[in-house]
Amino acid sequence: TQTVYHFGGNADHSDARQKDKTITGGKGANLAEMASIGLPVPPGFTITTEECLRYLDLGGDFPAELHDAVAKGVAHVEQTVGKKLGDAADPLLVSVRSGAAISMPGMMDTVLNLGLNDETVKGLAETSGDARFAWDSYRRFIQMYSDVVLGIDHGLFEEALEIMREDNGFYSDTEMEASHWEELTREYLKIVANEQDKPFPQDVDTQLWGAIRAVFDSWDSERAKIYRRLNDIPHDLGTAVNVQAMVFGNMGDDSATGVAFTRDPSTGEKYYYGEWLVNAQGEDVVAGIRTPQYLTKARREEAGADKPSMEEAMPAAYEELARVFDLLEKHYKDMQDIEFTVQQGQLFLLQTRTGKRTAKAALKMAVEMESEGLIDRKTAVLRIDPMALDQLLHPTLDPDAARDILTKGLPASPGAASGKIALDADTAELWANRGDAVILVRVETSPEDIHGMHAAKGILTARGGMTSHAAVVARGMGRPCVSGASGVSIDRKARTLRIGSAELAEGDVVTLDGGNGQVMRGQVDTIEPELAGDFAKVMEWADEARRMGVRTNAETPEDCKTARSFGAEGIGLCRTEHMFFDADRIMAVREMILAEREDGRRAALTKLLPEQRSDFEAIFEVMAGLPCTIRLLDPPLHEFLPSEDSDIDDIAAATGVGAEQLKRRIAELHEFNPMLGHRGCRLGITYPEIYEMQARAIFEAVCAVKERTGEAPLPEVMIPLVATRRELEILRALVDRVAEEVFAETGTRVEYLVGTMIELPRAALMAGEIAEEARFFSFGTNDLTQTTLGVSRDDASRFLGTYVDRGIFARDPFVSLDVDGVGQLVELAAERGRKTDPKLKLGICGEHGGDPASIAFCEQVGLDYVSASPFRVPIARLAAAQAAL
Ligand code: PEP
Ligand code: MG
Repeated sequence: TQTVYHFGGNADHSDARQKDKTITGGKGANLAEMASIGLPVPPGFTITTEECLRYLDLGGDFPAELHDAVAKGVAHVEQTVGKKLGDAADPLLVSVRSGAAISMPGMMDTVLNLGLNDETVKGLAETSGDARFAWDSYRRFIQMYSDVVLGIDHGLFEEALEIMREDNGFYSDTEMEASHWEELTREYLKIVANEQDKPFPQDVDTQLWGAIRAVFDSWDSERAKIYRRLNDIPHDLGTAVNVQAMVFGNMGDDSATGVAFTRDPSTGEKYYYGEWLVNAQGEDVVAGIRTPQYLTKARREEAGADKPSMEEAMPAAYEELARVFDLLEKHYKDMQDIEFTVQQGQLFLLQTRTGKRTAKAALKMAVEMESEGLIDRKTAVLRIDPMALDQLLHPTLDPDAARDILTKGLPASPGAASGKIALDADTAELWANRGDAVILVRVETSPEDIHGMHAAKGILTARGGMTSHAAVVARGMGRPCVSGASGVSIDRKARTLRIGSAELAEGDVVTLDGGNGQVMRGQVDTIEPELAGDFAKVMEWADEARRMGVRTNAETPEDCKTARSFGAEGIGLCRTEHMFFDADRIMAVREMILAEREDGRRAALTKLLPEQRSDFEAIFEVMAGLPCTIRLLDPPLHEFLPSEDSDIDDIAAATGVGAEQLKRRIAELHEFNPMLGHRGCRLGITYPEIYEMQARAIFEAVCAVKERTGEAPLPEVMIPLVATRRELEILRALVDRVAEEVFAETGTRVEYLVGTMIELPRAALMAGEIAEEARFFSFGTNDLTQTTLGVSRDDASRFLGTYVDRGIFARDPFVSLDVDGVGQLVELAAERGRKTDPKLKLGICGEHGGDPASIAFCEQVGLDYVSASPFRVPIARLAAAQAAL
């Protein structure tokens, strides 16, 4: 197999292009693609991801065949450029960059200006006629190489640079002359020699292989692993390595470098969005050390910035760039994220990839690209990540609320967030884990901060532009972010900070508005999200495309209303026990449980009946005309029992039963394994009066709502934790009997169904028989996962993380259905049930009903609907559509 692919010059691009990205990585594939359509790409070569995997497999040894292939790659670049690596008179310089199949912005390593040493730097000075540039390039190379390859703290170099500036009284690097850079370079070389007890590698081959090794190794770096875990990227893909001829954006005032998006990745608006810097190298833009300039004149004027836009300062190169933007967007039929360099007036493209975007931007782009005719409706629906919709469904800041604005930065990632200030990633994570909302505040973020950014509700940085690490990562995660807020200064030792003129301390609450860059003191009021516009359009397209229904898991009228506003078409699971916890009824529930005999239970149930009935009435009014699956009592009774002595005394007072006797009863009710104990339909079998009361409450409520409004919902009475046909037969007869009693008493008759949950392996296996008694099945995949895997859903978090890390489970099986295992039971039960009754209704009400991958599986096995918590309803609608397309 081919281990290296060439691009640029007269390379044969067809083979690299035809390979899928899993082999050459996203960056490599796109460089070859751009070169093949005639765009100016500096020549280079890509080492495949397969070589990375082989290297890691060999425990960090290079595969034998790689040496020749890399030598040929280098020869290709040398030939195309007409310079040689290591040539003292006229050296070729290259960049070495990672490029995985799935882009992981900022997660892995890059080395620029490779090929410089004490000799070639002189050649570069000679041929470029610019000694300042040559020495600056060399010192940058030493700094990057030392950080990435040799693992030397880059702070040491920053310090040396700082001292050099101070000693000379310089404000900025632009004041540094060639001699200063040369002196600094010597200083850097000393630092390296000190830190690693051997000199900086002068041999260019050693440099190249060191960089390749570092890129390979970066695949397994801690930060890359965390990024993959957070983004569900498999760990076994490996990264490709791209070695490419350098072009220089720092060769004077007719040179520049920049990062651009073909549309605004925050809002989705169609204009060229980006940042550039004159006389700079790529990392200067992203690192946020200098404040970048706007690309277009219109944007610059809008922002009131004085430094000229690229459109104004370099009209010819800008024009060329604009042409490339259009070409690339048409070619890839999607928004592109592009890196470019202008070297002495000439434009080069260093990267293009599909740009990360916020949910809001994704919707806008999909709708606009559809109307532009760039993509069709199906593509538009398929292009939105269902999980990303979550960002849009939550409240935003109330425009009328009072705002104590402390400062303003760049609106780097939209949305609003309030929380306690945390000054480092570990603190952010710690506080978030204990349940606090946290805003991570940093001078700038680096890939090491990724866990803290994920834990935080929002991110604020003092430095960095719209394309800085913080901005890119925050947008990808859907976290609000304000970047480059220069009014923020942090005292890391005192753990205090100044924002604008306010003195704050870590732990104080601030609010960010990522849509306009405002930073506010305290918590600011929020309002409900706007669900019209692009969101509504895409949802409409999704609804046209999907086959499955989408219902909600809800047990309060408020949740039902929210879910309906999000498009729920019924209730898939109403957990009636949740209603038992309310303060005004928990006493009666406890009385019922603690009663030793049936008459005591009945007395308590009589008190509960009107409460349950009014709960159901309120829900049924909201859900009129829609199916509502109401589950009868499920959890083990001890969940409702008092644990505090004071509660026990209250019950004793209310019931006249002594506290000691109550305690004895509580001890009696103790179970060793309550999840497999006296719960679910087993309660209904042993204490039928409980289910009788609940059935009565349901039917009385339906009849009342029908009388009052003329429209009843369709109640679907659901029996939990059934294992046998006989259980269902007994309880179905009970429900039917109570229904007839209520119909006779009220003189109103309504339609209803009785069905069961499939939550036990035996129920799945015996589904054919159980279907004789059921009009519907609802897969309770929470319990079905627990009982099939033999993993306690309440205790699994202790080891599941390790299981996922070790690849035992691809994902947490309580979040995303174990399709291979538990999925078989679902499929088999659906088949067997439908064989008995072809009209049997099939749905899912476990948490998996809101997980896109699990929803795709439900489509595949032909379920009729999925049911998800209210905020997941739009996610489920879109995922169901994507599954059907
Ligand atoms: C289930 O087990 O999947 C289910 C929906 O029921 P619960 O989560 O209430 O046990
Ligand atoms: Mg269950």
